[in-house]
Amino acid sequence: MTGPWPSVGARLVNSPTFQPFAWLLIAFVALPVQAAQPRLILQVTVDGLRGDLHRRFADVLVEGGFRYLAKNGIDYANAHYLHANTETIVGHTSLATGTVPAAHGMVANVWFDREQDRLAYNIEDPDYRLLTAGADVDQKTEIDHTQKTARSDGRSPENILTSTFSDELAVHFGGQSKVFAVSIKDRGAVSMAGHAGKAFWFSKKSGQFVTSSYYYDRYPEWVDAWNARKPAAAYSGKAWRLTHEPSRYMFGDADDRDYETDIARFGRTFPHWYGELGDKYFATKLTLSPAGDELTLDFTKTLMEKEQLGQDAVPDYLAISFSSTDYVGHIFGASSLEIEDNLVRLDRTLADLFAYVDEKVGLANTLIVLSADHGQPEVPGHLHIRGFRKAHYFDTKGLDKAPAIAALKDQFGLGEELIEAYFHPYLYLNHELIDTKGLDRAAVEQAVVAELRKFEGVAYAVSSSALRTDTLPDTLLTRSVLRNFHAKRSGDIYLVFEPNVFINDFDGLIVASTHGSPWRYDTYVPVIFAGNGLPTARVDRAVTPYDIAPTLSAYLGVKPPSGAVGAVLPEVLKK
Ligand SMILES: [Zn+2]
Repeated sequence: MTGPWPSVGARLVNSPTFQPFAWLLIAFVALPVQAAQPRLILQVTVDGLRGDLHRRFADVLVEGGFRYLAKNGIDYANAHYLHANTETIVGHTSLATGTVPAAHGMVANVWFDREQDRLAYNIEDPDYRLLTAGADVDQKTEIDHTQKTARSDGRSPENILTSTFSDELAVHFGGQSKVFAVSIKDRGAVSMAGHAGKAFWFSKKSGQFVTSSYYYDRYPEWVDAWNARKPAAAYSGKAWRLTHEPSRYMFGDADDRDYETDIARFGRTFPHWYGELGDKYFATKLTLSPAGDELTLDFTKTLMEKEQLGQDAVPDYLAISFSSTDYVGHIFGASSLEIEDNLVRLDRTLADLFAYVDEKVGLANTLIVLSADHGQPEVPGHLHIRGFRKAHYFDTKGLDKAPAIAALKDQFGLGEELIEAYFHPYLYLNHELIDTKGLDRAAVEQAVVAELRKFEGVAYAVSSSALRTDTLPDTLLTRSVLRNFHAKRSGDIYLVFEPNVFINDFDGLIVASTHGSPWRYDTYVPVIFAGNGLPTARVDRAVTPYDIAPTLSAYLGVKPPSGAVGAVLPEVLKK
């Protein structure tokens, strides 16, 4: 369909049956109508973009990026996740599926698989190997749980239990919609591509974009060509430098903070040197800076051109998840000169993306939705300066030996380790030990929970066996933990820490800040729909990111994803 009419109007035009009623059609087109059905749905996810960050640094923004969205879209300024574990795969899958982890099944970045007796990484799948041998993640600086956990380098969306909006689009149009997702992070791409689409992500080991045999038998020619061009090499010997003079920034005189992380000599102050192509951590350092987003965009532009996205009447879907904001926040904090300059660069990357989409597809033909998978906390060191003296990191490793737990073990006659491990956000108990002593698992869990609730820094603890009953108090925290509960994947005890109390352990790597709580700084994200003739509006009513997928479904007239619980946002549908 090429004309300005909605599809019904187009059919009327072409149908001889309706010729006698041509006057009706004239009346119809004379009315202001919504722009035509979009040729492209562009879902942008900014990993870790807390809902206030783009507004906080608004005076350094250029035209065409966030400002384009504000001027040409509906900005939901009060959007929060309602599930407890605000981690990357959990949020991305919620954006894609319009539902909570209890339904889509991605309860955490990792969970302990009791059947296989090992830690499982969310989208790991040994049946679908990476097409690039040896491109799996194995570096100490990987700020993910991938390294220790993923037994194979295979990846697929098979662990995602419900359908995504992109799946429904592909089903609705009989496979004629092209569906793609790109991210630095594997889980940022695989989740959004759904089961029907194609995903590409960045290998920090090879510095290339890769995929798995779930999607392709061999790389499309254009992917090989892009990788052969070695775009990452352009950063060799270079550094991430400030875009403006320091005086233009809110944190211009606060570059060096001792709570920031110096990873592989990337440094705590500008300029941050990437090192040389071929250095062990070269590609990793690119991802810890705006360069990661720039590479993601570069790859995506080639994808759009070579796969001809948005070039015919059947709507295509493209998801881009930009990862740099999350990594920069982790190592420098949400109130740092680095996060501020990253925002400047992210804004330019978005402006570049929107200009490219305008040239190739037309922004009038493109429905954009931008959100984030989770927010960001402040670093305890920064909070201390502002007067929050009790902000601290909680040590989960010492839990088993804590006096209260040790006393409990004596009481039950348990000589060995009872609290086996903490894999965020769940504690895992030693089932074998409990069983061999002939104890009731639920009773032991309850006793541990009762003690944990008394710990300094613990806001709430609840066992999974208690979650299976209907005797729990109806509180905000209970509800958020329940939304995160999946009988086959959740661990034994969910631990919620007080606000500004954090876990700080990424495979032994200490970073400045860690999200993953049910508190507002971690649940707060932007939700902005723009383009395709949408009006300008700011909406402060409380909404959720689960609303995005069902709203896209309603907008396109396709059925909602199978587990969707979000509401259709009426402002977006208004004609
Ligand atoms: Zn993160």
